[in-house]
Amino acid sequence: MRDLTDLTFGWLYVMHLVGSKGSSNVYWHCRCRCGQEKDVRQDVLVSGRVVSCGCRKSDEQVSRSRVMQIPKAARIKKAKTAAKARWNKQ
Ligand SMILES: [Zn+2]
Repeated sequence: MRDLTDLTFGWLYVMHLVGSKGSSNVYWHCRCRCGQEKDVRQDVLVSGRVVSCGCRKSDEQVSRSRVMQIPKAARIKKAKTAAKARWNKQ
């Protein structure tokens, strides 16, 4: 089994192993950059299908379904810049 502790996937930082649920599903306890914590299945995490606790997905859905508002856009841009800075640091 891969040890994902201390790795970052998108906005999710892997804190510790939760355990296995079922035969082969391994879950990791992750903390999102927004502050939410969530247990994520290993294969979903590694494949990149999940990149946040759900906050980024909802951001994308909102921006697609509504006319872009300036405060909202500014907030997303700031978050993306922070994420990029984190990657450059690594
Ligand atoms: Zn989040």
